[in-house]
Amino acid sequence: MTTVRRTPWPAGTERALGTPLQPSVVYGAESPDALDALYEGRAEGFTYAREGHPNAAVLGAKINAMEGCTDGIVTGSGMAAVTLALLALAKSGDHVLGGNQLYGRSLRLFSDELPRLGIAASTVDATDAGAVAAALRPETRAILIEVVSNPGLRIADLDAIAELAKARGIALIVDNTFTTPRAIHPFEHGADVVLHSVTKLMAGHSDVTLGWAAARDTVLAERMRVLAVTMGLTPSPFDCWLAERGLYTFDLRYDRAEENARALADMLAETQGVRRVLYPGRPDHPDAGRARQLLGARTGNMVTFDVDDSRAAANALVRAAEGLAFAPTLGDVATTLSHPATSSHRALSPEARRALGIGEGTFRVSVGVEPFEIIGETFARAVSAARGAG
Ligand SMILES: *Cc1c(COP(=O)(O)O)cnc(C)c1O
Repeated sequence: MTTVRRTPWPAGTERALGTPLQPSVVYGAESPDALDALYEGRAEGFTYAREGHPNAAVLGAKINAMEGCTDGIVTGSGMAAVTLALLALAKSGDHVLGGNQLYGRSLRLFSDELPRLGIAASTVDATDAGAVAAALRPETRAILIEVVSNPGLRIADLDAIAELAKARGIALIVDNTFTTPRAIHPFEHGADVVLHSVTKLMAGHSDVTLGWAAARDTVLAERMRVLAVTMGLTPSPFDCWLAERGLYTFDLRYDRAEENARALADMLAETQGVRRVLYPGRPDHPDAGRARQLLGARTGNMVTFDVDDSRAAANALVRAAEGLAFAPTLGDVATTLSHPATSSHRALSPEARRALGIGEGTFRVSVGVEPFEIIGETFARAVSAARGAG
């Protein structure tokens, strides 16, 4: 019979250039005194992976630095980060307010889950600070917005909403997934909590599901940390390891994708068969002025456009867009195409979709880092096919 004994990690690995992957769930301690020191914050270390592990610590510190904060928490998904922020701020009897063009699952949290917990949740047009003010209630505890909405790419009136929130003592949560710290630092605009789906542009390779959330206030940050650990919203070491690796090229990927997005938006605007192009960096965007003011030239990698409002045109476009992933996600290194009416916004009625400017001919592109000629050729071919079919 073999005696199974755990082997210590070999010595001499301290100078490895790459970050080691440490999948261990448990960490031994030297003595009960040492455990006391750890739990009381007098010593650094780890005990149990749900409470923290080296790969989450390394990744979290990097995102903290990118967002200009100290206490970020890495979570198992972007939705875990959204849930964590809202549940740390609101309890039964409270009200939370969200932008009406939030990420689809965030809207589902508002419509289906928070009310079940006794938390009233409503949504409002976040481009209109007057409408936001009118939607606040005495029991409103938090406002959740995204700077750039999906798929309309509308720009929230961030500064005015931050002012309102501050005056009323309401926490402002900003989901910075689309914009990323490359485009904006929401804490500098008065956000109380900033969060990310790290799954998207930050990790960047469509092989990780992760989130991150941070609070400016240290008491709230600690409450979020405890809640994440207790509710089990924390991440796996492997995902953290992969995401951290992705961050080394984040700026390069972001800049290249943004340059391509600008070029694609300009090309589509000149292409016959394209009925509308939405890109926050174009002067014809409905919030162009606010985009310039909040984001400068960092108007991102997302482009939304419309061809004829028919399923036949939409099918023809996707079928002709060979080599392009038709997939409801964003932020991959490669360009991906999504059709909101049958994916992110399929739960809405056609009328509700129309109110958000989403028809059968609406496509949202997450532009990648390919040479632009490839992207340009693909879309020229796809739009031409849609024109024939619609
Ligand atoms: C994808 C996304 C989320 C959710 O992130 P997951 O990692 O998929 O859970 C939240 N907000 C925005 C803006 C997103 O795009």
